[in-house]
Amino acid sequence: MKHIFVTGGVVSSLGKGLTAASIGTLLERRGLKVTLQKFDPYLNVDPGTMSPFQHGEVYVLDDGAETDLDLGHYERFTDSKLTGFNNLTSGQVYQRVLDKERRGDYLGKTVQVIPHVTDEIQKRIREIGKKTGVDVVITEIGGTIGDIEGLPFVEAIREFALDAGRGNVLFLHVTFVPFIKAAGELKTKPTQQGVAKLREIGITPDILVCRCEKPLSKEHRQKLSLFCNVPYEAVIEEMDVEHSIYEVPLMLQREGMDNLICQQLGLDTPPADMAHWQDIIRKLIKPRHRVRIGVVGKYVELQDAYKSVYEAVIHGGVANDCGVEIKRIDAEDIEKNGAAKTLEGCSGILVPGGFGERGTEGKIQATQFARENNIPYLGLCLGMQIATIEFARNVLKLEGAHSTEFDPATAHPVIALLDEQQKVTEKGGTMRLGSQPCKLEPGSLVSRLYDSEEIHERHRHRYEFNNTYREAFETAGLTFSGTSPDGKLVEIVEVPWHPFFVASQFHPEFKSKPNKPHPLFEGFIAAAHACGHLKST
Ligand code: GLN
Repeated sequence: MKHIFVTGGVVSSLGKGLTAASIGTLLERRGLKVTLQKFDPYLNVDPGTMSPFQHGEVYVLDDGAETDLDLGHYERFTDSKLTGFNNLTSGQVYQRVLDKERRGDYLGKTVQVIPHVTDEIQKRIREIGKKTGVDVVITEIGGTIGDIEGLPFVEAIREFALDAGRGNVLFLHVTFVPFIKAAGELKTKPTQQGVAKLREIGITPDILVCRCEKPLSKEHRQKLSLFCNVPYEAVIEEMDVEHSIYEVPLMLQREGMDNLICQQLGLDTPPADMAHWQDIIRKLIKPRHRVRIGVVGKYVELQDAYKSVYEAVIHGGVANDCGVEIKRIDAEDIEKNGAAKTLEGCSGILVPGGFGERGTEGKIQATQFARENNIPYLGLCLGMQIATIEFARNVLKLEGAHSTEFDPATAHPVIALLDEQQKVTEKGGTMRLGSQPCKLEPGSLVSRLYDSEEIHERHRHRYEFNNTYREAFETAGLTFSGTSPDGKLVEIVEVPWHPFFVASQFHPEFKSKPNKPHPLFEGFIAAAHACGHLKST
């Protein structure tokens, strides 16, 4: 089994996760089986308890693990099946070490970062290999080389390489080569210093991936090779992509990345066949149609808070050969300026998941606007709860209807805490999480979109539709087109007379890929495109 370790230098936000994922794409297209894992140096046990302001989106896996958003990239770019085991944090490592210490497993020894913490990390690297049986494990180390909290991970991979043999391990370092406008040139010094930090720990990178906004010249490559002790051909340029993150695998392939990796690791495979991927890129760069989708949330100014939602919308566009312009709309702007004005020009409206009261009234107004004006609507998790509240207030005329999350004393709690949540007191990992089966109403829009009557989708919520109100909603025409197999939990609602009004309690965005767009997003963009045309003609 071969291992690739991806580290980052100079600054954060270099797109290490995308680079790791793109390498995964290329290796899979060469016929290799890969898995990807992320090591996060923070002390939280998982990112599930972190605010989107801190950490961007929390990505949920089939097994219910709440993970780093880079796992979203891994799943979108590859076919590897990930579990909670693919995301290790310092918090988990220390928790394990301390549990062992309390049990007396260390037999009186002093428990130390080296070797006990580093051994625990190495154990995980070996276990993921055994568990998955893949050809190549790609491990991304979060943070930047030089961070104090990341040191045990870097030390652990150094020790691991010693043990596994150098032909089985490859160190890939993603670095930044800034363009200094005043000087009109690219500067290699930060990279030299970043790599020096890595070498101090005892790791010399085998491949240097240089993130840059201008191309590297021959001289730059020579300099980087010389000062960083990396072969000339292993200095790889990774420029900012012009159109789409899905261009990265093709860019790296042009730079010879996958050949280099296979050579260094002694993997004898045919070249990667990227024809299908190229077709996706064509649709992204030069789509036949265009559509504008309004995403109404409360973290719209953050790049990463709705990452999977934005990606899934784009995949829905690919399925329809339709370029999607995403208009990020702050729900509070709707409260201030009204839905009609704020949502002007949008051919589809999407309300994603969320927690907390702020912005809910704006989301309710956006939903009402979509329902009443026949604008395609997709509600996700909180978006479904909002759709239900809106319907209750404006169609059933249940004044003040709400979710007990936002108004515990509401006269009409159409959304209420799940039974299983009543006794839950701890916050971490305690929501209704992960993949759950759902049966679809025959003949409903969703059963046509999925072309199936039983689906599995990922969840992350504490609140749910209150069945006391089921009959009233049904009488008024709302269709409960997806429920748990026992019929007790509402999973999807639809407005049947509307061109496309679908809202799900689950998060379909976590299962969409560019080469396998999710049926709900595909249907949503198709409807938005059709309605957009109606409006302009
Ligand atoms: N806050 C809602 C709940 O807990 C919705 C959660 C979400 O959108 N992920 O049920």
